[in-house]
Amino acid sequence: MPLSSSETIALFQKYVVPNYNRFPVALVRGEGSWVWDAEGNRYLDLFPGWGCNLLGHCPPLVVEAVRDQLGKLIHVPNTWYTEVQGQWAAALSQRSFGGQAFFCNSGTEANEAAIKLIRLHSPRPKYKIITFEGGFHGRTLGSTSATAQPKYHEGLGPLMAGFVYAPFGDLEAVARLIDDETAAILVEPIQGEGGVRIAPDGFLAGLRRLADEHKLLLAFDEVQTGFGRTGDWFAYQGFGVTPDIMTLSKALCGGLAGGAMLVKPEIAPSLRPGMHACTFGGNPIAARAGLAAIEMIERENLLVRAKQLGELFAQRLTQLQHQCPLIREVRVRGLMIGVELSIEGAPIVKACLERRLLVNCTHSTVIRLLPAMTLSDELAHQGCDILAEVLQQAANSTAVQ
Ligand SMILES: *Cc1c(COP(=O)(O)O)cnc(C)c1O
Repeated sequence: MPLSSSETIALFQKYVVPNYNRFPVALVRGEGSWVWDAEGNRYLDLFPGWGCNLLGHCPPLVVEAVRDQLGKLIHVPNTWYTEVQGQWAAALSQRSFGGQAFFCNSGTEANEAAIKLIRLHSPRPKYKIITFEGGFHGRTLGSTSATAQPKYHEGLGPLMAGFVYAPFGDLEAVARLIDDETAAILVEPIQGEGGVRIAPDGFLAGLRRLADEHKLLLAFDEVQTGFGRTGDWFAYQGFGVTPDIMTLSKALCGGLAGGAMLVKPEIAPSLRPGMHACTFGGNPIAARAGLAAIEMIERENLLVRAKQLGELFAQRLTQLQHQCPLIREVRVRGLMIGVELSIEGAPIVKACLERRLLVNCTHSTVIRLLPAMTLSDELAHQGCDILAEVLQQAANSTAVQ
């Protein structure tokens, strides 16, 4: 007999490190934008897999490719060549800036690779990396140090040295921070955990100019923005500014664990043999999943679909903003969607959950949606209807108080 949600929760209470706040629900199955819990309840998921399930839950092409690969070769170390890793690197390179790939399993590992590459590539005294307030780069200590948000640093010090923080969007502040020791700039084109904050006009181009003037490397963390999310393969393409280094993960393998750092070919050799590695990086399962994800996006024309869906959400949510005084701002780039509220977002997320709609709150007051590219118009409207209802109710009860 499968366990009930409460039986599963009891296991966690006894045996799992309590470092996550979890909803009191055990999920057992997913398909597209639907997930089911142990009690058989169905939820509409507008935040599938924390951005990892950009192709929806269990995308058929990915499932099929992984099943096939599982029976052939699951893992071999990077002391060997495999065709699938080579094909995967080629496919990513051809859709981006013609770079070379280093593979890993997560976003934070991709950023660690970038940090090490930056240090190895930069002649001393250059080693410092400029990052941005409100940014997020992952949970290992290097990436945490790169993350300019005090709440993620509490109790962890001393952090890794060599990061300096600038306000997001402030080119003059960046220019002032650059000195003889500055090696690189690392930035998310759209801050995800930081509340879906879109780089202001000219900001990324300005960073590119500063990097060129001062011989710095420009690295984009596209772990959340990348791989089709914004309606381009990578967000940098929509901004028209090309980085030297780009990090990827989350949606990269259609929901399986996988990460990559892509770098311009002239920089790549600085990550020389012996200086960095990742045991599971670029394994055949992740590679097949990554290739299948690319194939699915192209076969089903999902980049165009992401833009269309983004317009639908932008329209619905802007309309809602006119009716609901709790909404301060709506920010949308493709399927990266933030609704900034004038109140805490956590109770809104809870009220949505009670109506079987899954959304996220980040940066305290921003309701974040990262829907699947395969979402139908009908389900997008359904989700917006529920969110509208919940927000209107919250506005009414706030008004009463
Ligand atoms: C999620 C995220 C990371 C960290 O990825 P993990 O796979 O959790 O290590 C890094 N950067 C950005 C922009 C992210 O959204």
